[in-house]
Amino acid sequence: MQDTDRSLRKIVVVGGGTAGWMAAAALSQLVGGRFGAIEVIESDEIGTVGVGEATIPPLHLFHALLGIDENAFVRATQGAFKLGIEFRDWGRKGGRYFHPFGAYGAPMGLSPFHQAWLRASAEGVADDLDAYNLAASAAALNRFVRPPAGQAPPVFSTFGYAFHFDASLYAKFLRRFAEARGAQRTEGKIVDVALRDDDGFVEAVTLEDGRRIDGDFFIDCSGFRGLLIEQALKTGYEDWSHWLPCDRALAVPSANAGPLTPYTRSTAEAAGWRWRIPLQHRTGNGHVYCSAHISDDEAASALLAGLDGEALADPRPLRFTPGRRRKAWNRNVLALGLASGFIEPLESTSIHLIQTAITRLFSYFPDRDFDPATVDEYNRLSAQEFEEARDFVILHYAVGERDDTELWRYCQAMSLPGSLRRKIDLYRGHGRIHVLPNELFKEHSWLAVLEGQGARPERLDPLTSLIDGAALRGQLGAIQAAVRQTAQALPSHEAFIASHCRAEA
Ligand SMILES: Cc1cc2nc3c(=O)[nH]c(=O)nc-3n(C[C@H](O)[C@H](O)[C@H](O)COP(=O)(O)OP(=O)(O)OC[C@H]3O[C@@H](n4cnc5c(N)ncnc54)[C@H](O)[C@@H]3O)c2cc1C
Repeated sequence: MQDTDRSLRKIVVVGGGTAGWMAAAALSQLVGGRFGAIEVIESDEIGTVGVGEATIPPLHLFHALLGIDENAFVRATQGAFKLGIEFRDWGRKGGRYFHPFGAYGAPMGLSPFHQAWLRASAEGVADDLDAYNLAASAAALNRFVRPPAGQAPPVFSTFGYAFHFDASLYAKFLRRFAEARGAQRTEGKIVDVALRDDDGFVEAVTLEDGRRIDGDFFIDCSGFRGLLIEQALKTGYEDWSHWLPCDRALAVPSANAGPLTPYTRSTAEAAGWRWRIPLQHRTGNGHVYCSAHISDDEAASALLAGLDGEALADPRPLRFTPGRRRKAWNRNVLALGLASGFIEPLESTSIHLIQTAITRLFSYFPDRDFDPATVDEYNRLSAQEFEEARDFVILHYAVGERDDTELWRYCQAMSLPGSLRRKIDLYRGHGRIHVLPNELFKEHSWLAVLEGQGARPERLDPLTSLIDGAALRGQLGAIQAAVRQTAQALPSHEAFIASHCRAEA
């Protein structure tokens, strides 16, 4: 074993959006000082993408790892809580379903809950899935509470929660956190990237004013442009447009109207879909669309027509190519956030992929030798994770009755990744859902979307015949009653925020 110290001496984070400041916050808190200075370079002139306001539950883990107080974070970011996503007009026009953060019911004998529910459904004695899920039932009533630790029965349905927040306030919050722990911020526009002659590793970046910043390890958080990972290192990009044809978005804030709903809403449109993300001080809205099927003006009109409060700005355009960087980590550059790839925000996966990339970095933390086996393993896991998230998002387009516009007809006919095809076929056969232990989206998520999109199994799982009919009805009734009573007893989302984390005006 080598005994000379090959530890990193300087880490440079290129970019100060959500990715850059999440990385700087984690590095400064967890390894700060040990590997030299952590320097974040960001350009006020270029700015950040400024969207990315809906999350999924594991963000707790990131905050817990860093010791961030959750109420302080919600207060500082005008945040609110999210129990899942309501899908409207997906699957079929006029249809509605909810993807909740939490499991349905409880297993019955050898059968997982959903198999028993499928049988009861076929016999006409089951209610909608939402009735057996606490997150979905609470969301429908605009109620919220943090789940008590270790909660399971007597509610029979676990639930988790995530956040909605103002993306620019989140970056500011993390910046204060990182700077207080020694991260250094440098404002300036990078105009040149110097590569070492011998091995092509990045040596330094040069700012417009001539300042040169050297480093051992560069974390590229420069957004879609991938300043280091692509422009300098030419890593390559795997384009997934054939599965995810939407390539543009318009984002607009609107005034709050009505109660503060604890969920994201996604409404399918003729050539894409609209999001609605309620925060304490405003509602974030956007229209994700396929430019081959609708003009920017038409997309803007559809967005503005769907607002439930007054628009507070003009719609802001964004363009993207769905896909992932062929290697998230190339030489001494690790790409995070939009620089590493992009999957449209239908299931709010991007910030989560930043979080898991950061935690993976700590599992595979480099020294100045950048061991190729370490880098390869990181890249393998990163690719796998992106592909799992991709499959789950494609599922929403791939299953369903909609064939009323070009986009939906295209989606009905498109060929799917084999990994997704297998999952859909497995469900359509006997209602089986197979998810690997580390997959991001668990059985209940697949169930919610498969059922919500209308993928009913052809046959019942034979083992459900072992469940006694009266016991099945009794158990379903008990779960439904427990879920309903628990949901009704919760405080309103607004009351919960008012007593725990109301933002200052
Ligand atoms: C339409 C849309 C909706 C989204 N919604 C969600 C959502 O609901 N949930 C979710 O999890 N994610 C969402 N995302 C993704 C989310 O916005 C991003 O993952 C997140 O904001 C991270 O962005 P970033 O930090 O990688 O890039 P950016 O925010 O683009 O930051 C890039 C940084 O690099 C700096 N920079 C770039 N070039 C230079 C240069 N030459 N010199 C110096 N600095 C430079 C910029 O100044 C900036 O600080 C959405 C994305 C889009 C496009």
